[in-house]
Amino acid sequence: MGALARKPLCIYSQHYFYSYLKGTLMISRVWRPCALIVLLFSLFSRLAFAEQAPNPGTQPATAMPSVINVPAGAQASANFDTDVATNAYLAEIPASAKAKSDAYFEGGYWLILWDFVYAVAVVLLLLNLRWSAAFRNLAERITRFKPLQTMIYWVQYLLVTSVLGFPLTVYEDYLREHKYGLATQTFGPWMGDQFKNLLVDLVLGAILFTLLFGVVRRFPRTWWLWGASVSTLFTVLVTLIAPVYLVPIFNKVTPLNDAKIAGPILSMARANGIAVKDVYKIDASKQSTRMSANVSGLGHTLRITLNDNLLRRGSLEEIQAVMGHEMGHYVLNHVYKGIFFFAIGIFALFALLYWALNWSLAQWGEKWQIRGVGDTAVLPLVVLVGLIFIFVLTPVVNTFIRSQEHEADMYGLNASRQPDGFAQGAIHLGEYRKMSPGPVEEWIFFDHPSGRNRIHDAMQWKAENLKLMTEQAKP
Ligand SMILES: [Zn+2]
Repeated sequence: MGALARKPLCIYSQHYFYSYLKGTLMISRVWRPCALIVLLFSLFSRLAFAEQAPNPGTQPATAMPSVINVPAGAQASANFDTDVATNAYLAEIPASAKAKSDAYFEGGYWLILWDFVYAVAVVLLLLNLRWSAAFRNLAERITRFKPLQTMIYWVQYLLVTSVLGFPLTVYEDYLREHKYGLATQTFGPWMGDQFKNLLVDLVLGAILFTLLFGVVRRFPRTWWLWGASVSTLFTVLVTLIAPVYLVPIFNKVTPLNDAKIAGPILSMARANGIAVKDVYKIDASKQSTRMSANVSGLGHTLRITLNDNLLRRGSLEEIQAVMGHEMGHYVLNHVYKGIFFFAIGIFALFALLYWALNWSLAQWGEKWQIRGVGDTAVLPLVVLVGLIFIFVLTPVVNTFIRSQEHEADMYGLNASRQPDGFAQGAIHLGEYRKMSPGPVEEWIFFDHPSGRNRIHDAMQWKAENLKLMTEQAKP
């Protein structure tokens, strides 16, 4: 859940579950044994960048320009050319900003690998040092009640993996974000969010694993089907409650109603059949400088949320373009389709687990002192299989999400009719996403179309709607 509070992109809710799988079940990126906290706090506040109070009014010199006017090459005219216009927009990006964005995003490729290697090392440690078996033994000494044993095991697992993962978490979520000027939190409030994450993980994980181990013990031969079903329902539940019960733990969410910017947005929402009460804003500037918006929730809780960085720094045209994109996710039912896609992944993972757990336990079960698949001590092994599964499928997951993002882009251009606002938005998102990757790089690593492709799409749309554009420009 760690990513829930801070990672913006254009998250819609299935990302919650994805980051839940990736972050929480694997290595929880949270930690807080109270005794060491004061020591660490003083250590890190000295190590890490001057802890000045962030000033949301100023942007670092390497940030993307806040105001991006339509460059000469992208003005609507009789000899408008899509490629010339695309390049004209890309030329608006200062070289220093491009260098920083590339470095940040490319560093993220390596982090995928290091996260994987680190997490694998941690779970192998838990198995081979028989810590996992020791967690189980302690839980069995405390109570004879099986569900409670699972919960006690989970508490130990979560705390220990959080401690072991803490250095990487601090680097990745705090130091690195500050280094690139993307974070606005000082160490104390950041740590506070980590603590909240830990509590959320504690509760959600306790529920999920108690259910899953209950199912495995009850259905020794068909547990993988039941386990996959329980996990899918759990995903749906987390998606449903996230906007109402999870997001407000970290941020303040309010209905979008300041008349100046809300007017055109709410008008566009009505024009596209979206109930006005489904549009919200969130105080993301509390954690980050990133501009973003998302669609989250399910059924009654389904909603569009714009963040305050976008509302503050984006032009009116840009806000409308982003809003059009989010409405695309909403109207095209991407949340439901996403859940369906992830459900297929969950069933595939459980089928793999059914085979892989039995095989591994036959080889090393005795050495790790794990009695079988119904023994809670098997959890690190489950996580190991899950880690490999997710790592291998990274390009598939990214490509699924990226395809939906492309659909939302095209819907958004048609709904907002703001190709230039859209191009501005693509540049602003380039603060944390490489603008011009190679095609293979984009296929593997990008969960959104690259900035260059998004600007190209917008300029293509503009080229095909030049008449509309020139009419709009008239007073
Ligand atoms: Zn999106």
